Amino acid sequence: MTRLAQTAGLTDVQREILSTVREFVDKEIIPVATELEHRDEYPQAIVDGLKELGLFGLMIPEEYGGLGESLLTYALCVEEIARGWMSVSGIINTHFIVAYMLKQHGTQEQKDHFLPRMATGEVRGAFSMSEPGLGSDVSAITSKAVRDGDNYVLNGQKMWLTNGGSSTLVAVLVRSDEGHPEGTAPHKSMTTFLVEKEPGFGEVRPGLTIPGKIDKMGYKGVDTTELIMDGLRIPANRVLGGQTGRGFYQMMDGVEVGRVNVAARGCGVAQRAFELGVSYAQQRHTFGKPIAQHQAIQFKLAEMATKVEAAHAMMVNAARKKDSGERNDLEAGMAKYLASEYCKEVVEDAFRIHGGYGFSKEYEIERLYREAPMLLIGEGTAEIQKMIIGRRLLEEYRFQG
Ligand SMILES: Cc1cc2nc3c(=O)[nH]c(=O)nc-3n(C[C@H](O)[C@H](O)[C@H](O)COP(=O)(O)OP(=O)(O)OC[C@H]3O[C@@H](n4cnc5c(N)ncnc54)[C@H](O)[C@@H]3O)c2cc1C
Repeated sequence: MTRLAQTAGLTDVQREILSTVREFVDKEIIPVATELEHRDEYPQAIVDGLKELGLFGLMIPEEYGGLGESLLTYALCVEEIARGWMSVSGIINTHFIVAYMLKQHGTQEQKDHFLPRMATGEVRGAFSMSEPGLGSDVSAITSKAVRDGDNYVLNGQKMWLTNGGSSTLVAVLVRSDEGHPEGTAPHKSMTTFLVEKEPGFGEVRPGLTIPGKIDKMGYKGVDTTELIMDGLRIPANRVLGGQTGRGFYQMMDGVEVGRVNVAARGCGVAQRAFELGVSYAQQRHTFGKPIAQHQAIQFKLAEMATKVEAAHAMMVNAARKKDSGERNDLEAGMAKYLASEYCKEVVEDAFRIHGGYGFSKEYEIERLYREAPMLLIGEGTAEIQKMIIGRRLLEEYRFQG
């Protein structure tokens, strides 16, 4: 069978990396994923394996000890990993965004200090924009930094940090009024701080508390937490890029590559759902034949496979556009929107094909059914993607009358 979601024009190196990752996923992730997920257990052995494969440094430049690979290579690896277990792709995603932001916007000292240790996975990244009162509306951030000599003092509460407990470096977006007179647009008075901390829960650094894991419906195994800053002192040289007021743009740049990544996760989860559906449909018999021989089920499989192909093509297009150095917010928004919606639909169809067994925790599709909704929300909801897409379309197709 020709496998779905093939990618034309890959280099030998890309093909080799992908086949290594696929083998790792088939051998080390798929067999244990559902059991670990049900126990909400952190997949330490899998993370150690990913470190050995060099995946934490996949996109970090070679001069800092990484593999210096493209966004496309990264996204295709994420697709494979999410096919095995979406939570594992979540473990590397925030790390990747922080490394990307450092590479693009960090001072030389910040790059030298963090990137080599991020490439090995010794330093693990998380990023934090959301607060209890906001997610989509980043400009409404209320956490605040105030200058005090050579330091900034940070106060406020953050919400929904993926890898909040396991990470040792958090890129935190806060409001910093210094040098920005009252009335400055909110997005011009925000700053990203590079906050180093101990892994774990409780007071992980004076003034910084990670209260514990948020109990979630899916996306288990990976820790998602709150973060509380109460008089947290951060040296001025840990302002990303060394200049306040640039945080909003830095974070949006990070989220843009993050969107390609979430699209890739949607592709991976949808592929796995298709694989499970097409396999089950050939084993289950009703009315004297395998259900795959009923046209209604075949049509479902046809729709599912078409969605897998379409989402993959859009995700690859968005990654390639960014790799070429061009702006890709339109393509990334479209890919994220389509891949996450299609993922939800393909997973639901695979669930229906499983009949009652899909409802049993013994079947993998039950896990996928609880995982897919996260992709509708993370890195910007469908409505936010449509706002980005709509705005860009009106720029491109400005009425010339
Ligand atoms: C498991 C998980 C992990 C996460 N990890 C991280 C992380 O690592 N770091 C981080 O910073 N955040 C993280 N998030 C937060 C995530 O980015 C936000 O949940 C998301 O951006 C939505 O924000 P919200 O939950 O505040 O919803 P809201 O912004 O309150 O939106 C509620 C609803 O209103 C809609 N809406 C909002 N504004 C508009 C509008 N202008 N027009 C039309 N509709 C609108 C939304 O689409 C949504 O349907 C995570 C979330 C989850 C669930």
